[in-house]
Amino acid sequence: MSGLALGDRHSRPLDGLGDVASPKTILIRAGDVSGAVNRQHLLVCLVNLLARLHGLVGSIRVAVKGEMTVVTPNGAGPANAFQAVENLASWANGGRIPVLPPDGVEDLTIDMTGQMRGGASIYVWGEGWKAWIGSAPRAFGGSFGRRDCLGPYLAAALAAGEVFKHAKGLKKGRFARDDAYSLWSGESGRWEVLEDGPAVSDTRLPPLYVVGAGAVGQGIIQVLGASELASSFLVTIDHDRHDLEGTNLNRCFLAGLDDLDRPKVEAVERYRTFSGLGGLEHSGTLRDYILSSRSGLHPKLDLAEARDSYELVVSAVDINTSRQDIQGLCPRVVVGGSTDGLRAQAVIYGLVEQAECLGCWNVPDDGRAKAAAAREAALRAMSPEERRKELAGQVENLDAALSYLASAEPRCGQLGESDVKSFVDRMPPEFSASFVSMAAATMAAASLFRVTSGLSSDVNLQPKTILQFKNLSMAKTVTARRSGCAHCCVVREAGSPAKLG
Ligand SMILES: [Zn+2]
Repeated sequence: MSGLALGDRHSRPLDGLGDVASPKTILIRAGDVSGAVNRQHLLVCLVNLLARLHGLVGSIRVAVKGEMTVVTPNGAGPANAFQAVENLASWANGGRIPVLPPDGVEDLTIDMTGQMRGGASIYVWGEGWKAWIGSAPRAFGGSFGRRDCLGPYLAAALAAGEVFKHAKGLKKGRFARDDAYSLWSGESGRWEVLEDGPAVSDTRLPPLYVVGAGAVGQGIIQVLGASELASSFLVTIDHDRHDLEGTNLNRCFLAGLDDLDRPKVEAVERYRTFSGLGGLEHSGTLRDYILSSRSGLHPKLDLAEARDSYELVVSAVDINTSRQDIQGLCPRVVVGGSTDGLRAQAVIYGLVEQAECLGCWNVPDDGRAKAAAAREAALRAMSPEERRKELAGQVENLDAALSYLASAEPRCGQLGESDVKSFVDRMPPEFSASFVSMAAATMAAASLFRVTSGLSSDVNLQPKTILQFKNLSMAKTVTARRSGCAHCCVVREAGSPAKLG
């Protein structure tokens, strides 16, 4: 085992949470999962999330019986359920957070059996398009009919979120009591009254683009692959690699230890192949993709691209210049998934008149440039000793960087300039956590299924769904256009709003 400190981005300070985390031993009571596809999905997703919460989860004890038949991020079944999740965890983290049999000593117990048995701190259930999380047991029939992963995956995200809050300590917000969610209606409330959506297995997904194969993008692809679709074709575009330090692995669901320093689209291709999704990957930026020549493209996309036309694009990028690039293609419909701290969000762009486009409010901010300038000014204000301490180990050529900072009127292109510029441009890494990304991914995938199942003509469509883990709320809303948005001024050829054909 290497000395990598895998993915601690969820350990960064966050308003409303405690500062010190203590690793917890988690017991998952899963029961016999043979034939219970919804609980298999829930267990797979939950273990994959907990196995990435380094520093918060010490080990995962799993009480489970039976066979696992659903696809997992590291392979396809069937397999003994315990072995399947044991392999999944060691693939994801190299044994750092192991899956072990129960030994009677645990800090937190998660019960996902759907039966009235006390003694757990977290109860969770997911089925169809719905998810439930609570602090007291309740019975959920014995319906083993639904094969969808949407509700179970969201339920897993909610359960991992509760573990996170328990491990960190909560100063603002609350723990789950009896909270249900529908990815169909985008609402939270009581389980009995929330509307469920139709089965997605065996449905046909129109060919589409997924731009961004980081946490949210991989989560969306995981959902699509686990949804047993009749047909699909995803063009996944991402230029990035899973970083060598392993900081991506706290939330890149389709990546294991062996994927470090490998392109993110490689992990996507592997999972797509064994989960039966159609498609191709492009290891490069969206701009590179547009300029590249490609073979093996879906004929429908091939024809559309020849006309410079993009029907359906999933935006799973995390920087605003990339969002501008996507909107710059004038796609007819964009489904976006994103996170901000403990908030997950999914938005359908292009179907509601006068509602925002992806480019409206995601303007590349000059805040970053200003912050970089401020950091350089702060460096210049330091004493030479302080500067040396600040930059040591952070730049390639320390002496050149120090001499650049020491010159009162530095020349453009002076030795050391690029070192200093890249140092001040590196922002402190932001908070990000596996379960928030997975929630955004399930919400975006649900939005995608809604859009492609013909609900695009719903005049009351509220395109934006927001889930806040701190207070466990989920709500729909609509955000108006920004006047002056360059993209919204482009007149659509076939009138607005768009309809998927
Ligand atoms: Zn706009």
